[in-house]
Amino acid sequence: MVNEKIENSEKVTQAINLPPSITVGDLSQIIDVSPSEIIKELMRRGVMANINEYINFEMAALITTTFGIPVLKPKENQVDTIAKPVVTLSESKVASRPPIVTILGHVDHGKTTLLDAIRGTKVVDSEHGGITQGIGAYQVSHQDNLITFIDTPGHEAFTNMRARGAQVTDIAILVVAADDGVMRQTIEAINHIKAAGVPMIVAINKVDIPGVDLNKLKAQLVEHEVIPEELGGDILCVNVSATKKEGIEDLLESISLVAEISELKSNPDENGTGVILEGETDKLRGNLATILVQNGKVFLGNYLVAGESSGRIKSMIDGFGNPVKFIEPGAPGQILGINPVPRPGEIFRVFEKEKDSKQFLGKKKKLQSKSNNDLNSLKNSSDENEFYHLIVKTGSQGTMEPVKKVLENISIDNKAIKIIHSDIGTVNESDVMLAVASYSTIIGFQADVEPGALKQAQANNILVKRYDIVYEMIEEVEDFVSEFGEEKIVENKLGEALILAVFEIDKKGKAAGFRVNSGVLRRNGYMKILRDGKELYNGQVGSLRHFKENVREIRNGMEGGVTLENFKDFQENDVIYCYELKRA
Ligand code: GDP
Repeated sequence: MVNEKIENSEKVTQAINLPPSITVGDLSQIIDVSPSEIIKELMRRGVMANINEYINFEMAALITTTFGIPVLKPKENQVDTIAKPVVTLSESKVASRPPIVTILGHVDHGKTTLLDAIRGTKVVDSEHGGITQGIGAYQVSHQDNLITFIDTPGHEAFTNMRARGAQVTDIAILVVAADDGVMRQTIEAINHIKAAGVPMIVAINKVDIPGVDLNKLKAQLVEHEVIPEELGGDILCVNVSATKKEGIEDLLESISLVAEISELKSNPDENGTGVILEGETDKLRGNLATILVQNGKVFLGNYLVAGESSGRIKSMIDGFGNPVKFIEPGAPGQILGINPVPRPGEIFRVFEKEKDSKQFLGKKKKLQSKSNNDLNSLKNSSDENEFYHLIVKTGSQGTMEPVKKVLENISIDNKAIKIIHSDIGTVNESDVMLAVASYSTIIGFQADVEPGALKQAQANNILVKRYDIVYEMIEEVEDFVSEFGEEKIVENKLGEALILAVFEIDKKGKAAGFRVNSGVLRRNGYMKILRDGKELYNGQVGSLRHFKENVREIRNGMEGGVTLENFKDFQENDVIYCYELKRA
């Protein structure tokens, strides 16, 4: 069910209900604060989330109260006030769902072979004895638990999805070949996984090759801040041989363990939401889309909305090609009936009624055009923990370390540089995707930018800068850092009142009795006391009362009493000017 859009923030004064989890976009609608403001507040608290991602109750409540809107405690969440969550994981019905796993790593380290080995040995038996269909994901069972594997290995697909807003992966498997060790794309994958904040398991593959040095490999991992458990870190490392199908059971065991710790929950009774994995047009059948359900169930006949695509699900198959009536949380499936073909990485949501899906599509379009602008303005000013994110490419090995060093030394006020990823070579599309997903600026020092990457960067509003001279680079990057995060804070007038009388309340303090002449006076606003146009006080409100009641606000035409923090020299006919602070 879709929230009632709150037309005017002034209406949001009573405490609201929030669900156990909510997307940034839905929260934005409920509290009428732009998604970018919410995203910035989240980043300040070290949470990277985009408009489609879910945040939990605690975080949503924290953000909501930051904007001056009180939130009812979860226990009090019985009253149906303003917030009606779109997706609620009602506590009683949540069940754990299968983890969704992606395999990443350097080329030729055995990602595809490993995916095949897992599929070959462990794939869930189909009721009808079918074989798995190439629909982009498959499920295996391990000790009665299901695990879902995304069938496209590599960080391109992983980050491509993230750049579109979908965090499809719950656990990332980093495949490193024992004979080759940590290579360039291994490092890229590590950085992509870290930027996504997804738990990682290392699968050390090809351990069947004689003479491999596992200690050396682990030391290389440590160098890149991937600390194996046995060396005091928290990364599980599993030895496997994909070709010999050895170690698969241990790997699945580790995945189950990490999944358990991650507490992946879903409410199977809810209308399904998830991610589009693939979309294609079949000449005979029409538009096909592979979906991965993350929460709730998707039923045949449901109306699905994904990006700008929508339609009634006319037919549906599971991972074995069997027609099914519904798809469970954590499982993939293929559907027919959506127009136009949805794009991979698009978030989808289903509805029972066509009317609701159309209403949602309309709202989504409005919200998306707004939020795209908001997000674009954010992208070059990443501010997670006041770090300006950079991706650094250099033309040669010799320049990499000095360039990184001077960049990492840049620090202005409390703002510093964080290098999300660095490598030698041209700026490529994978760099751009990582930049989109991690709100980074790309620096190419004596490095070229591939034409495709440039086009992609422009389309995504990513800043790609090329430098040949170090001091020019430092100067400009210093400018980026000093400008970033400096939002303009502006005063937003709420209302004005005239002081009618002054009362002694105790030895220390005085209260002013007033009548509101315009707008509203708010307890959580700020107040100025003006006498003959001169400002005598500017600060926080102590208490606001209507008769003897403490109140949150007093509106135009009403009378009330106020005390101010550290101010008591009120006089009759002084003006109370009440305002709030807003980011502009
Ligand atoms: P990808 O590029 O990461 O998907 O790598 P592939 O799965 O295509 O494997 C690359 C090569 O490594 C192939 O020739 C595989 O047969 C080989 N390979 C994969 N896993 C193993 C393994 O466990 N042991 C050995 N000896 N070779 C392997």
